[in-house]
Amino acid sequence: MRQRTAGVKMSSRIPQHIVIVGASLAGISAAQSLRTHGYTGKVTVIGDEIHQPYDRPPLSKDFLLGTMEEADLSLIPSTEEGEDIEWRLGTPAVGLDADDRPKIHLGDGRAVVADVAILATGARARALPVRSDLRGVFTLRGLSDAVALRHALAMAKKVVVVGAGFIGAEVASSAVRLGLEVTVVEATRSPLANVLGTELGALCAAQHHRNGVRLMAGVTVEELIGDDCVEGVIMSDDTFLPADVVVVGVGATPNVEWAVGSGLSVDNGFLTDASFRTNRDNVYAVGDCARVYDEISGAHVRHEHWSSAAGQGNAVARVVLGLPPLRRPAPYFWSHQYGHMLQYAGRHHDADHFEIVEGDPAAGKFVACFSDTAGKLKAVFAMDSSKVFAGYRRTLG
Ligand SMILES: Cc1cc2nc3c(=O)[nH]c(=O)nc-3n(C[C@H](O)[C@H](O)[C@H](O)COP(=O)(O)OP(=O)(O)OC[C@H]3O[C@@H](n4cnc5c(N)ncnc54)[C@H](O)[C@@H]3O)c2cc1C
Repeated sequence: MRQRTAGVKMSSRIPQHIVIVGASLAGISAAQSLRTHGYTGKVTVIGDEIHQPYDRPPLSKDFLLGTMEEADLSLIPSTEEGEDIEWRLGTPAVGLDADDRPKIHLGDGRAVVADVAILATGARARALPVRSDLRGVFTLRGLSDAVALRHALAMAKKVVVVGAGFIGAEVASSAVRLGLEVTVVEATRSPLANVLGTELGALCAAQHHRNGVRLMAGVTVEELIGDDCVEGVIMSDDTFLPADVVVVGVGATPNVEWAVGSGLSVDNGFLTDASFRTNRDNVYAVGDCARVYDEISGAHVRHEHWSSAAGQGNAVARVVLGLPPLRRPAPYFWSHQYGHMLQYAGRHHDADHFEIVEGDPAAGKFVACFSDTAGKLKAVFAMDSSKVFAGYRRTLG
């Protein structure tokens, strides 16, 4: 954290105090990047959770399986790393005044005033539109969710996962490996088709069947049944699915409500320009809570992926310090399901040409590319083929 980047010329208008709201991946990436670039001013990190920043991807994978513990998740590798940050943990930000210097109001009645505020409050798991306060019904976003779910899975026999997106698929994969009977229910007819396209969506859906998980697509949850604890789920086609654990994985909502009244532009996330600047002076937003202007598509885009949150955290530190921007890599994400590593980079459209360029989906190892009508590579997907994937990813730039 204390090392310096030699030979980098910074702007002379360096802020004295930077406050980061959200003890998150994007937030800590910004803090670490500020220090790496030689920033010696004060950095305060505000977090509503009591934990120091931790990594979320293992929560649906190794942590649920019991092959990773809480200590393995820390994003601060050594005590020394966190020493030059003032931590305000366990207290949410409840308001922002951005008229003069940004002032963050905290839930305990205190406030932090800084020269620059970086908002990195992430997203929260979306709830089902039906009554879901029964015991045994879970969403999975944070460490405490994962601890409670892991405990419940250890005593469960039948699990229903609502939503066949990445989190749902990963939870199903972990639960079946723990020896449980798992059903995944999904509202759309083609799970993951909106992200990966119909061909790849179908290949990913086939993984559920191949691994002994029942997938019901094109149905929605009508009701969760039970008195105190959940006993099952009634689906829109009248099927009753018995369950002692139900995991809801139906997407995430950006955490922006706390800043209502600040005058910030909000539309499915804090709206920013391509350099993460909001419409208020000296207030920036990054990670899952931010919808950042994307110069390539000409639209504001909110990503919900690890590499995007980490990359934006690093990039905003450069902006705040007045350093020249680095070239941004193509969007990238990965997922682990049923023992396979899935990776995707780039952006494709429905009209792009899809082709399997290496391997065989039936063998669980392949690479597929999407190209536009001119033959230009737009996106690449791989299952268990990291090396070949990396080559195509480099081509994407
Ligand atoms: C279970 C799970 C598995 C995942 N797996 C993958 C994967 O395999 N691959 C991949 O690419 N991505 C994955 N992701 C997504 C990735 O982890 C997220 O994109 C990333 O964590 C977003 O980071 P962030 O910094 O924007 O926000 P977050 O990690 O959401 O952190 C935001 C923090 O801000 C806090 N906060 C919210 N409101 C306030 C407030 N008012 N005041 C103070 N603090 C507040 C939150 O409690 C939280 O601690 C996964 C996510 C989850 C939940």
